Amino acid sequence: MALNERDCFTESIEMKAMSLRCPQCGHRDDYQIKWLLREKKERMPGGGDQRDRALFEKLRDHLYRVDDTVNCNKCRRRFEIPSHQSMIFLDD
Ligand SMILES: [Zn+2]
Repeated sequence: MALNERDCFTESIEMKAMSLRCPQCGHRDDYQIKWLLREKKERMPGGGDQRDRALFEKLRDHLYRVDDTVNCNKCRRRFEIPSHQSMIFLDD
């Protein structure tokens, strides 16, 4: 049985303010963006073998961005959140 990464984390929703600039009208503002906080469980879920244990050791707590787009507060047009800001590791 392969290790299911989702089973290794406790997930909860977290809202974070992000300063974003609308590419359409140039307006910069803070937006509440939805993230998934994924905290690694103390123990690996059952059924794993040696290889799964090695994988589990490498997993780290992180925030995973759920929202891909926001609506501009000024012009109301939808724009994309830059994709390089889609994951944040927490234990650095
Ligand atoms: Zn705009």
